[in-house]
Amino acid sequence: MKTADVAIIGGGPAGLFCAFECRLMGLECILVEALGNLGGQCAALYPDKEILDIPGLPRVLARDLISSLVKQTMQFEPQYLLERKITNLTKDVEADAWRLCTSHDAIACKSVVIATGGGAFDFNKIPLPEARQFEGVSLFYAIKDKSAVQGKIISIIGGGDAALDWTLALADTAKTINLIHRRDNFKATPISLERLAALSDQGKVKVFTPFQLGAMAGHDGRLTSITLVPSFGNTAANQIPLDTDVLLACFGLATARNSFESWGVNVENGKIVVDKASYATNLPLVYAIGDIAAYEGKITSLLSAFAEGAAVARSIRRQLKSQTELDCRGSLAASQR
Ligand SMILES: Cc1cc2nc3c(=O)[nH]c(=O)nc-3n(C[C@H](O)[C@H](O)[C@H](O)COP(=O)(O)OP(=O)(O)OC[C@H]3O[C@@H](n4cnc5c(N)ncnc54)[C@H](O)[C@@H]3O)c2cc1C
Repeated sequence: MKTADVAIIGGGPAGLFCAFECRLMGLECILVEALGNLGGQCAALYPDKEILDIPGLPRVLARDLISSLVKQTMQFEPQYLLERKITNLTKDVEADAWRLCTSHDAIACKSVVIATGGGAFDFNKIPLPEARQFEGVSLFYAIKDKSAVQGKIISIIGGGDAALDWTLALADTAKTINLIHRRDNFKATPISLERLAALSDQGKVKVFTPFQLGAMAGHDGRLTSITLVPSFGNTAANQIPLDTDVLLACFGLATARNSFESWGVNVENGKIVVDKASYATNLPLVYAIGDIAAYEGKITSLLSAFAEGAAVARSIRRQLKSQTELDCRGSLAASQR
């Protein structure tokens, strides 16, 4: 089982900056994120928005802010676990430790920072009953390693930026790409649409609109073909069978609220109630920061998330390290200044 001084739940701006501050304070830290990438709402909901209210940065794209934040945090090497949704928090009285449970393992830690924002992000899934058997083998919602799909026939479903970005990114890797959308028009930047048109002219990408996924076929998790049905006027005669090795579904993200009731933290109107000065919850050594934390005068913003992360790291350090340790070791922070 993984262990740490601090486990941070949520890899959004609050969790990321808190991980940086914890490492700066000399604390062993694990950050756990439900999604396969870091950045929370900035990365998932508004990567191309210009943010105007970060001190010292007159304007910054949300995606660039997250990329810098990740770089800043990773220089002090916190451990991080992606694609792990924390489902419960329990106290191991004997070990005097908190235990964070995911669906398949657990993390033991001395203190916990809940930075779960609006909830855990997850990809909207293909609604066909047969889809599950292919997940992770030949059906994906994002591709982690392009080399794993080298030379394959890839079918991509979706009509937004993500579908177009993946089509463009995989065009040189795939044997062929089929791009399928239920409407005639794609919602993407003009530059992406121009590049798509060029790839289509070269025969590298075949575009199917307005079509939807009707069925998936294969065995042992390996897809062999899919069937497209027209969005309007579906009959057996106008369905299209398509050989497919890999299916990539780009249906956007859903947010699942955490059910904190079983965690034991005090919740009001869906937010965790914390002490205004320390961001402590009602549980010992359990804190909440960022959008999920509620206290009088709370401003829901990136700036608050960062400030709360920094304050909590200092609180935890004071609680966990003895005075001697604090005097002798100082902190990484002190040596940096
Ligand atoms: C469209 C839009 C524009 C915005 N513009 C601005 C702006 O210009 N300036 C500004 O200051 N603020 C802005 N905000 C607000 C800002 O994005 C939030 O205040 C900020 O993202 C809060 O960060 P967070 O880390 O608390 O939460 P989030 O960003 O929501 O991150 C929480 C993370 O925790 C993960 N998570 C949740 N539950 C679990 C679990 N059980 N296990 C593991 N992981 C979990 C989620 O997957 C997510 O990645 C904007 C928000 C939106 C929606």
